[in-house]
Amino acid sequence: MIALSLNELTQALDAQLVGDSLIIQSISTDTREQMSQALFIALVGERFDAHNYAQQAIEQGATALLVERELALDVPQLLVKDTRLALGQLASYVREKLALSCCAITGSNGKTTVKEMTTAILSQGFEVLATKGNFNNDIGVPLSLLRATEMHQLGVLELGANHIGEIAYTVSLVKPKVALINNVSAAHIEGFGSQNGVLKAKSELFGELGAEQLALCEYQSSYQEYLDEVARPAKIGHFSLDNVNADYYASAIESLGLSGSRFVLHTPNGEALIQINLAGEHNVKNAVAAAALSLNMGAKLEQVSQGLAQLDKVPGRVNVQSLNNSVQLIDDSYNANPASFNAAINILANFEGKRFLIAGAMGEMGQQTKQVHNDLVKRALDSDISLYSYGASFDEVLTEIGRSSLGFDSHEVLCEQLITALEAQHSPCLVLVKGSRSTHMEKVVKQLQQYY
Ligand code: ATP
Ligand code: MG
Repeated sequence: MIALSLNELTQALDAQLVGDSLIIQSISTDTREQMSQALFIALVGERFDAHNYAQQAIEQGATALLVERELALDVPQLLVKDTRLALGQLASYVREKLALSCCAITGSNGKTTVKEMTTAILSQGFEVLATKGNFNNDIGVPLSLLRATEMHQLGVLELGANHIGEIAYTVSLVKPKVALINNVSAAHIEGFGSQNGVLKAKSELFGELGAEQLALCEYQSSYQEYLDEVARPAKIGHFSLDNVNADYYASAIESLGLSGSRFVLHTPNGEALIQINLAGEHNVKNAVAAAALSLNMGAKLEQVSQGLAQLDKVPGRVNVQSLNNSVQLIDDSYNANPASFNAAINILANFEGKRFLIAGAMGEMGQQTKQVHNDLVKRALDSDISLYSYGASFDEVLTEIGRSSLGFDSHEVLCEQLITALEAQHSPCLVLVKGSRSTHMEKVVKQLQQYY
């Protein structure tokens, strides 16, 4: 973060300053963090009011407050109507002051992966400010932008949404030079009503673009025409896994199994041989998307291949590890929706050996709940994959087809039976663990790691 004076912020945030101006060196919204010369921003949520923690923030090093009501505390205070919106204004102000050129990524799946790939590529030639972890919501995006300093040349921001209007808001803070919608599929259906609702929410990324900005989305996806329409008058570009009519696509895709893939990347800037270290064909598509984004942010083609070759994992995602000589584990326990489940099962299905799918139920699927769990069970059984499931949505489907023994209501029991089955195998085994956050499938991963 850059140093800012409270006088300067009074103007930028349309705030009222109570007390004398001073210089702040950082901001904080969380009293669990260490602070020094910080402006503490008192956010108000449904279940919390950080005005109650202002005293504690001061004891920890906050020297000024951004508040909605004046507090009886002896530090300068910036008074605003809405601290959440002021946080956004502050982020916009800092981005503009630094003239930081940004790109923005959204989509139902692969946002973090494309962000990490893009960051790896752009870091070959630039100082990059990138979203850390999953700080992609209406609080996380401004906090990410506020980490910017004079040293940063480019910003790579991940934008997520669980309600309509969220991306319209965060993209207005980022003002991306290039905006990319990685894909649109059934995720958070409950929050958006339908897949069309999801499409509308994601399309907000393109809603306010001007003629100088570029919108990137997947070629010939069912929603491409709609997104192109929303994006105009922006410039428009398309990527694809392997459609030669797209601006960016891959050919000669060669799977290297769990170690990744190799392919030829085609772009308007030329062709390049690419190797990625992340398994699965969906990651080839993610890499093409990241290449499209990076080239339009100023990367050179050789930086695309260098950057992608250096990235060897995205924390918490499709994490491949060997449990012993014959058992490998893919830890993808962080979260799940139908498209990401299918992408992960594709990796499993291509494995030559014994395949185990340890599946936690998918949440937030609304009326589609039964259908999506049914499809997943069918896919596993048809592909000769041993299924161990956890969660009521699976139980209902399994009972109907007379396979209720594949459903478990305890992680421990599931794990014990899985280990017994693994121990009885003589061929190499691959175990994929995945499920929605609410199913806590990381417990299975932990138990397996402890056993082996
Ligand atoms: P979140 O909404 O949690 O922030 P995200 O969009 O950032 O998720 P990632 O963290 O990159 O996505 O990946 C999440 C999961 O989606 C991974 O488990 C991976 O298997 C799957 N996935 C990644 N890319 C794709 C893709 N292009 N298509 C389908 N599934 C994908
Ligand atoms: Mg993410």
